[in-house]
Amino acid sequence: MAGRSIRRTIGILALGTLVAVVEWAVIVLRPAKPALALQVVEGVDRSYRGRFAGELAFQTVLAQMPEQRRRALAFVERRTGLRLVATDRERILIRFTEDAGPEQTLAVTETRSVNGRRCQVVTFYLPPLLREQLPVEPTLRHELAHAVMRQRMGFRYGYVPVWLREGIAVWTAEQIEDKAALLIPARLAAGQDPLMLLNGLDTLPHTLDDLLEDALLFQYLEQRCGAPCVQRVIQDVVHGRSPRRLIEHATGLSWREVNAQVRAFSLDYIRARSTMGAQHSQVSDTFPALKGV
Ligand SMILES: [Zn+2]
Repeated sequence: MAGRSIRRTIGILALGTLVAVVEWAVIVLRPAKPALALQVVEGVDRSYRGRFAGELAFQTVLAQMPEQRRRALAFVERRTGLRLVATDRERILIRFTEDAGPEQTLAVTETRSVNGRRCQVVTFYLPPLLREQLPVEPTLRHELAHAVMRQRMGFRYGYVPVWLREGIAVWTAEQIEDKAALLIPARLAAGQDPLMLLNGLDTLPHTLDDLLEDALLFQYLEQRCGAPCVQRVIQDVVHGRSPRRLIEHATGLSWREVNAQVRAFSLDYIRARSTMGAQHSQVSDTFPALKGV
């Protein structure tokens, strides 16, 4: 009996190792994106010559970007407690493209080879950026949170679950209220229950609708044990430690208890904002769960 159980344990360990090796190979060996040749001044690419290049709106964005980048980087470093050395900070770059990008997306961050150096590149999509005239800085802080963690972690960032990456980025950028103001009224307007936004952290595919739930975990953590405690969790994620254990340690609760508490906290958060928005409409009558708050 003992021999069979040892063989079974060895089999499970071997299978686990094989899965880890395949995952590692997929992340490390996948084809790199094409190298970029950019004209970088103060962390911002000046090589864009496309159809928006002559527009005043683009020239204003370009002129303001170096200072916005500097400010947003300092903000992210302060908020997360993740410090970059100057040579790492220089590897975080901003560029522009006239591609429209995926729907509702203003910018994306990728690791790219730029002029022979491995850099983190935040690409802004010019059509939505110039058309919607949204404030650039919240998006910039969000993307730079991804960029700073990528720069600190290298390819290991690919192992961090998407809910954790996005939760940290939204919390860091202080975008939680913005996300709530966007997502909750959209659900109400579509005749749907906004509590459906809480569908579980690990749910795939992960969409923009999931970012509020991701970030509410960090909002809960901040309220329970303070911003320095959230910073410690982020720093430990960068050092490759298990996020579940970190959060259990930070809260003194089991993962099951954390989930229950975060869910209760998130339900209250969404209910409060749903009824605020619904005071001027009849929509809340459709959702008894939202009433009486
Ligand atoms: Zn993001």
